[in-house]
Amino acid sequence: MASLFEEEITCFADLILPVPIPSLFTYRVPREMTDMIKTGARVIVQFGQKRVITAVVAHLHTNPPVKYQAKYILELLDEEPIVTSKQLELFKWVAEYYLCNIGEVMNVALPAGLKITSQSKIQFNPEFEYEELLTDQEIMILDAIKKQDALSYEEVERLVQKSNITAIIKSLVAKRAVILFEEVKERYKPKVARKIRLTPAFLSNDSLIQLTTSLDKFPKQQEILMRYLSYVPVYNHPELNQKGLDKSFFSQENGFSESALQTLIKKGVLEPFEIFVSRFDDIPSGNLTEITLTESQQTASSQIHNLFQEKEVVLLHGITGSGKTEVYIELIRKVLAGGSQVLFLLPEIALTTQIVVRLRKVFGDTMGIYHSKFSDNERVEVWKGILDGKFQFVVGVRSAIFLPFDNLGLIIVDEEHETSYKQYDPAPRYNARDVAVIMSYMHKGKTLLGSATPSLESYYHAKTGRYGLVEMTQRFGNAVLPSFELINTKLEKKQKKMKNEFSSVLLEHIRNNISNKEQTILFQNRRGYSPYLQCEECNWISQCANCDVSLTYHLKAGELRCHYCGHKEEVPRTCPSCGSPRVKTMGYGTEKIEDELHIIFPEARVLRMDLDTTRAKNAYQQIIQEFEEGGIDILVGTQMVSKGLDFDNVSMVGIFDADRIIHFPEFRASERAFQMLTQVSGRAGRRADKPGKVLIQTSNPAQQLLERIVTNDYVGMYETEILEREQYQYPPFTRLIKLTVKHPDEATSRRAADQLAQKLTVNLGKSRVLGPEAPLVDRVRNQFLFDILIKLEREKINFKAAKSFIQEKVTDILTDKTLKSIHIIIDVDCV
Ligand code: ADP
Ligand code: ZN
Ligand code: ZN
Repeated sequence: MASLFEEEITCFADLILPVPIPSLFTYRVPREMTDMIKTGARVIVQFGQKRVITAVVAHLHTNPPVKYQAKYILELLDEEPIVTSKQLELFKWVAEYYLCNIGEVMNVALPAGLKITSQSKIQFNPEFEYEELLTDQEIMILDAIKKQDALSYEEVERLVQKSNITAIIKSLVAKRAVILFEEVKERYKPKVARKIRLTPAFLSNDSLIQLTTSLDKFPKQQEILMRYLSYVPVYNHPELNQKGLDKSFFSQENGFSESALQTLIKKGVLEPFEIFVSRFDDIPSGNLTEITLTESQQTASSQIHNLFQEKEVVLLHGITGSGKTEVYIELIRKVLAGGSQVLFLLPEIALTTQIVVRLRKVFGDTMGIYHSKFSDNERVEVWKGILDGKFQFVVGVRSAIFLPFDNLGLIIVDEEHETSYKQYDPAPRYNARDVAVIMSYMHKGKTLLGSATPSLESYYHAKTGRYGLVEMTQRFGNAVLPSFELINTKLEKKQKKMKNEFSSVLLEHIRNNISNKEQTILFQNRRGYSPYLQCEECNWISQCANCDVSLTYHLKAGELRCHYCGHKEEVPRTCPSCGSPRVKTMGYGTEKIEDELHIIFPEARVLRMDLDTTRAKNAYQQIIQEFEEGGIDILVGTQMVSKGLDFDNVSMVGIFDADRIIHFPEFRASERAFQMLTQVSGRAGRRADKPGKVLIQTSNPAQQLLERIVTNDYVGMYETEILEREQYQYPPFTRLIKLTVKHPDEATSRRAADQLAQKLTVNLGKSRVLGPEAPLVDRVRNQFLFDILIKLEREKINFKAAKSFIQEKVTDILTDKTLKSIHIIIDVDCV
């Protein structure tokens, strides 16, 4: 009977584990934990033989697993859930939709600081008897442990100055000299400020006077006390003592004696204490300038409001500089006032710019910021801040959709067309814009998509009535869109007017701009100095050893780099193939343009903004600030310069090599080119008194797409494109799933891809399965790649069923013994 009783109360937990397994894993909840454990809490469990990992409780129940004996949960980390039930629902949806494991979703969602690391440590075995023979090294380690209680593997490595210590440790264990154990620790550490204040005993005026006289004989101590009192006048305001002064204030650099300070602490005059501080204090909140919406902004705002009565999603199509930000702000305020949470998504790069400063001014400390360049501790602070209600409003990059919201009233996706909302690697390969729409459904909230150049998908949904559509067609404050000039480089080349990659017209305009003290932005969508080196004798080209791609020459770094795998090489002085010294740089990137500008305009001040100059945490912000403060004449950059920047003094934008962008071999090329070139152009002439000019260098000014860009004809571009998409069955009429097969051996990779395509064709039919085909760069990191593209009609096909069929066929290949170590990447809604 006892056993029956026990079975009834035995509780099991289905856990999300951060490991690549397709399903949840069931563990047994120890009896003493059953009252406390909640879904959404973190627990520690053992997985496999040795690993101790953090997992999240997805589901509590009383059914023991059928196929395995459930292990006990080792430890419960949270009394209150750190993952909300809405999040669990979302994680599940993402895993199902994007065909990945829920553990992979959790891995991306949780900041590392909320995961627990287990670290192997060694400890002295108190039962050890010195009978065994020990080596010198072993004795050294034992001595160290006895002093320090326990050592991590790394500490042991440092101690014996060896990188492989497993043999030594094994031997120590075998001799029963040490014990191994796993220390589990939380990685998140709140940031603390170390402070000093007067102990409460001296807060009355009498005791304070006594104290000061008693210190007459100790001038150094008295100096510290006096200084403290001059900053914290506790005579008149004893309450100020509570906050104290930063300890660093009394540092030796400031002329104070550390030992005197310590004596005062020892005497009980001063007391040290610590407070937790927020890591976001360095973003200025500044003074709020009250802004009144213009008429067109007001109209847009109320249109959005009205459309939300019937639509879940509204697309705000407003030209560059139309003042979308203020419309967002108005809306955010309303939703926050109604008591719901708001999430504002921005592309990675736009997040460090003016828009955040502006939002900060309006929403102050109640706004959380979630950026991928933030440290892990900062991310944990945002996470916890949302859970405890400090942040009702969060501005963040794509991964911010995984934060612990439980009551989202509104998600804004600014620059919704941006490809950086899509995660390529690792899984989940999600698009945050699309997930945002689903998430709003789950929260019964709304989504606002905003862009000057909407993605074709979103505009299509708006045109066909699924989304609401609001248009803003005027720039703020009577500023007009810039005027365009197309420069025919073919003609200039013939007339020998080009100076390397600069046309005479472009140079002329840059020169004028410099002398007028106006700023210029130059756009070349390729970084590095030149995309390859070539030998003029034998045509040798610099190639990556691991990838099928040329090595880019970087002048400042003095090396050749692969932009696919990161491989680096020295620049050869002579041709590695024939020995000729006539090795030339071919083509040009941002670095070369910068370099030539220095030569042509030695007096001009030039900044460059690309991946190479913005790797450091604040580098991007610094470049923007420097450019904004003036004094800089020219900013050269990749598409980074196009992202939401708002400068007063930029009157000209120059675009190199538009043809390469327009004719990229990809079905989205026209859409992308329109977006990219319109966005870059939008940086010019954002003030009414300074109309802007955009110069585009092209070998064919008659192209239709250029005409569309020049006349800001988004709708024209859309209408041409959407016809083609329909005709060739591309999104938005279909959904695309890309399968990439990878293997170090080309033949094996091809064979696996062929087999996979064949299996898929059986049920899906030939017209829905394209390939396998080697992609543009078909070897990366020594893996040969083959792509299979699956097109599924939006209306006719049961997407879910098709996906599980695809998943099944992928598993067939992965478990095929004749195709060892094949990798297959599944990318749903690939871009
Ligand atoms: P968009 O994001 O649509 O390209 P922004 O929101 O950056 O445009 O606005 C363009 C510029 O106009 C910004 O400098 C902004 O401060 C200014 N602006 C917009 N609306 C107003 C307003 N109602 N009052 C004052 N300035 C405004
Ligand atoms: Zn050669
Ligand atoms: Zn490479």
